[in-house]
Amino acid sequence: MIKHALNVTREADFAAWYQAVISEADLAEESGVRGCMVIRPWGYGIWERIQRLLDDRIKATGHENCYFPLFIPLSYFEKEAEHVDGFAKEMAVVTHHRLKQVDGKLVVDPEAKLEEPLVVRPTSETVIGAAFSRWVQSWRDLPVLINQWANVVRWEMRTRMFLRTSEFLWQEGHTAHASVDEAREETMKMLEVYRSFAEDCLAMPVVAGEKPENERFPGAVSTYSIEAMMQDGKALQAGTSHFLGTTFSSAQNIKFQNAEGVQELAQTTSWGVSTRMIGGVIMVHGDDDGLRVPPRVAPWQIVIVPMLRDTDEDAAVLAYCKGLQADLAKQSALGEPVRALLDARPAKAAAKRWGWVKKGAPVVIEVGGRDVAGGNVSVIRRDRLYREDGKLDSAVLAKDGFVGSAAALLEEIQSVLHGQARERLDANIVRGVDSFDSLKAHFQGSGKYPGWVEVQWARPSGEALDKVVERLKALKLTFRNVPLGAAPVDGACIFSGEPAVERILVARAY
Ligand code: AMP
Repeated sequence: MIKHALNVTREADFAAWYQAVISEADLAEESGVRGCMVIRPWGYGIWERIQRLLDDRIKATGHENCYFPLFIPLSYFEKEAEHVDGFAKEMAVVTHHRLKQVDGKLVVDPEAKLEEPLVVRPTSETVIGAAFSRWVQSWRDLPVLINQWANVVRWEMRTRMFLRTSEFLWQEGHTAHASVDEAREETMKMLEVYRSFAEDCLAMPVVAGEKPENERFPGAVSTYSIEAMMQDGKALQAGTSHFLGTTFSSAQNIKFQNAEGVQELAQTTSWGVSTRMIGGVIMVHGDDDGLRVPPRVAPWQIVIVPMLRDTDEDAAVLAYCKGLQADLAKQSALGEPVRALLDARPAKAAAKRWGWVKKGAPVVIEVGGRDVAGGNVSVIRRDRLYREDGKLDSAVLAKDGFVGSAAALLEEIQSVLHGQARERLDANIVRGVDSFDSLKAHFQGSGKYPGWVEVQWARPSGEALDKVVERLKALKLTFRNVPLGAAPVDGACIFSGEPAVERILVARAY
């Protein structure tokens, strides 16, 4: 049996395994504040890769970055009742601006009360809407297409690192348009940016679709999401794109004079993805030896570990490794220069090797005296760590040949990870469940990892929908989304027996 690097397996305890990956891969740790995490360099490095790749795509679709304040006056929220309803329970509010010392203790100075409380932004529709109302006067000022990279705070009751934290990092796009058609087109365009980013960069297959009414963003007319399947079969909402209609333009007075000289309300959208994506990468690609980072988002794609023995040979080994690093940096993989690190820290080579395996660097190269003498390198692929016989698969390759094929190797690893995840997603969406009883039976009888079920429904609304949601909740199930491009329906709604109008995914979710 293989002795894996982590002391808990996915099979034994998925939740404990997830925490073990985060700590053993040095991704993040708890801070002194519940639900807020310290993101360590390897975790933040992945976030920086996500930022860079996604930012390019956001800009390529015509958006510009900007920055709005962290504090939002409470009154901004009062203007939009539904939005407030959705976020009130999760708001952190600043009420004072000074402390004072009383008997050697620091206390809030009651005399330093703010005239108006300030909300720590949970999302920025209100404050950005206020700016849009200043920026937009005529149809010529539209569309406004902006994005900001920021941190937000939502006082979540049940937190889990990366997946749901009280403070998280994200980007939020906000746009204003002259027509419904154009705003809807924007909403779908950004959903597609997220879908293709998840697939191409994170190697994370997703289902893009529309959220049912009960899962809509507070104030949205329509909310769309990408949903990813974790290895335990649960769903993770990995990104959302909202068509907001005139909800925020009427609250924030975003009006423009159209070409005919008539005043109209602008149509707005918003869309965001967060550090939750890193949680998705862990749960989609991790294995019992730790994380496996897709090469495109790996801070270091190839890590070179010299096997130093405190002998005269060491200098030659180091020089050889430096040459290798320089040669690799000249290669280009997945559209960018290869990111190769020489890990010359004084730690033992075996400790470094397993450290990088747990962190999930796509390729680890070991170089000892014998490799130098033979002009070779020993190559470990993180996507294929063990041989058939359970031994670590370390291949001795000629150095120059390896350098020449490094780009292709990284591209292959990216596609292997995507392929494995794609296969898992496709194999675990069950169709043809045609009654609520069989839905129930499926989730009660399919063992630990029941996956997702796609059912047909009549798209109930209001109270009728609430009742269905309650029935699912009793089984710890939720609606995920109505997949775009799903097969046409034929038959009855599994909840009401009425003629079905569309297909919707049901799953346990994070
Ligand atoms: P929303 O503004 O609610 O549509 O959120 C945008 C995206 O942020 C969601 O699709 C999630 O991927 C992510 N997100 C929402 N809440 C959290 C949270 N508490 N922690 C981390 N990510 C979150």
